[in-house]
Amino acid sequence: MPIDATQPYDADNIFAKILRGEIPCKQVYRDEWSLAFHDINPQAPTHILVIPTGAYVSWDDFSARGHVARDAGLVAPGYRLLANIGQHGHQEVPHLHVHLFGGRQMGQMLPR
Ligand code: AMP
Repeated sequence: MPIDATQPYDADNIFAKILRGEIPCKQVYRDEWSLAFHDINPQAPTHILVIPTGAYVSWDDFSARGHVARDAGLVAPGYRLLANIGQHGHQEVPHLHVHLFGGRQMGQMLPR
């Protein structure tokens, strides 16, 4: 179910539990600021979630509190980043995250 992204951060959300090590994940990368791990229900051959270690509900929350994203470099043959926000964006987990899809041709951005 999509969440209300205007609500305060819920420290019991599934990604908060993964960050605290209470729930396992298939980790790809971790540093002081970010964690990347494989999505449990992949929508492409490669489907990775990238989340900040900080407690932000959404990109709006993140932007409002004045932090700057630290980006990884882009590599050939390309991939897709996607962020869901709130009800219409169909965000299900109330911890800021971006989906990274790769490993196949992604096709058009949205179904027509
Ligand atoms: P969103 O709809 O953008 O909030 O996406 C949440 C994503 O989290 C979905 O793609 C889920 O498959 C994924 N997800 C939920 N629980 C877990 C988990 N325990 N480990 C990895 N991915 C998860």
